[in-house]
Order: sequence, then C-alpha cells, then structure tokens
Amino acid sequence: MNSAGPWAGAVAALAGLNVPVMPYRRNIYMTTPFPQIPRPMPFTFDVGSGFYMRPEGASILMGEANPAEPSSYTTTVDWEWLDTVLEHGLARFPILEQAGLAEQQCWAGLYEVTPDHNPILGSNPALAGYVDASGFSGHGIMHAPGCGLLIAEEILDGRAHTINIDELRIDRFANGPTHAERNVF
Ligand SMILES: Cc1cc2nc3c(=O)[nH]c(=O)nc-3n(C[C@H](O)[C@H](O)[C@H](O)COP(=O)(O)OP(=O)(O)OC[C@H]3O[C@@H](n4cnc5c(N)ncnc54)[C@H](O)[C@@H]3O)c2cc1C
Repeated sequence: MNSAGPWAGAVAALAGLNVPVMPYRRNIYMTTPFPQIPRPMPFTFDVGSGFYMRPEGASILMGEANPAEPSSYTTTVDWEWLDTVLEHGLARFPILEQAGLAEQQCWAGLYEVTPDHNPILGSNPALAGYVDASGFSGHGIMHAPGCGLLIAEEILDGRAHTINIDELRIDRFANGPTHAERNVF
C-alpha cells in the first residue's frame, strides 16, 4: 500500500507507476497568547482572500495558501508570505493588530495534492498487489478513519464495500483532468 502522503508520487515512481500526488508547502503562523478574541471561537475562514484562523491553546493559529508557490518539499517557514497573510487577516479582523507573533511556534508542512484535490484510493490496475491511499490534498485527517476502513476492506475483501470508492480510483485520470474539488479549503 502506498500511503506516503506528499511522497506518494515519488514512492509510486519506484514501482514504475505514475500516481499524480505533488507536495506543496503550507505555512502556519502562531500568535502569542491572545485572549482579546473571546472563546469559544470557531475555525474562521475568509473566503474572499483565503485567510483563516482558529484558536490553538491560548494563541491564534493563522494561515493562507500561496497559490503562486510551485510544488516542492520545502518545509522551512516562508516569512515573506507572512506579509500577505497579515495584510488579508488584518483587513478582515483588525483586532489581530494587537497580537504578537510567536516565531518559534510557526511551522510549515506539505499538502499532498492531486489534480482534482481528491484522494486516490484503491487497487492500482497497473500493478497487482499495489494499493493507493494517498493524495488527500490537505484534508486527509478528517478522511482518515473512513479511508482506513475502506482500504482495509479493499485489501482483505478484494474491494471496498462500505462506500463505493470507484470515483476515487486512479483510473479517473485516464481521460485527462477531472472535475476539481473547489469547496474544501
Ligand atoms: C499545515 C497543514 C494543515 C493541515 N490541516 C488539516 C486539517 O485541518 N484537516 C485535515 O483533515 N487535514 C489537514 N492537513 C492535511 C493532513 O495533514 C494530510 O492530508 C494527512 O496527514 C495525510 O495523511 P497521510 O497518512 O496520507 O500522509 P502523511 O500524514 O503525510 O503520512 C505519510 C507518511 O509516509 C511516510 N513515508 C514517506 N515516504 C516513505 C517511504 N519511502 N517509506 C516509508 N515511509 C514513508 C512519511 O514519513 C509519513 O509518515 C493539513 C496539512 C498541513 C501541511
């Protein structure tokens, strides 16, 4: 089974397979403790700019994807991009101007992105015994329990059956680009 996340494309290539999963950096910026925004506070997303924030302990966690950044395995924090994130964040939530930046708590990780931003699940018809479970495109944690069950069924029973995963199999890319998921951020 290939569940190598952002490395899934590279791991598939070791087996001679083309599995379109590409790594893209995503940055997380943390404030110092910031009680000025009262709790409870939901995850809050500005659909206009792409800026989002949510509470993380006593602090506020902020982020925004940089659509111009090319695919890479870079996981150092992009401090230049922070200017854009703050510009968008302050425009929508001016109270953030009072917040300090907790530089040591900022981090970056990799999204594992497919052409349509949906995962690739199931047996790969090009190689017997090889199963894809990757390409969650930045929303894999919420998919994890269901996908674990489905991939276990695929391996043990020959086919996932709790949910039909045919629309998520790799052969959906055989005829060119598929409809991209636009409503998951
Ligand atoms: C900043 C950020 C915020 C996110 N926020 C959310 C969120 O709010 N909600 C959500 O649902 N998802 C979120 N995600 C996405 C989520 O983290 C991923 O979709 C999820 O972790 C994918 O799980 P995975 O098991 O497929 O891959 P991963 O968790 O990346 O695991 C892949 C594993 O494979 C290992 N591996 C790689 N190559 C090899 C090899 N050759 N041999 C052996 N092992 C190997 C790696 O070391 C790694 O442990 C976020 C991601 C980032 C970067």
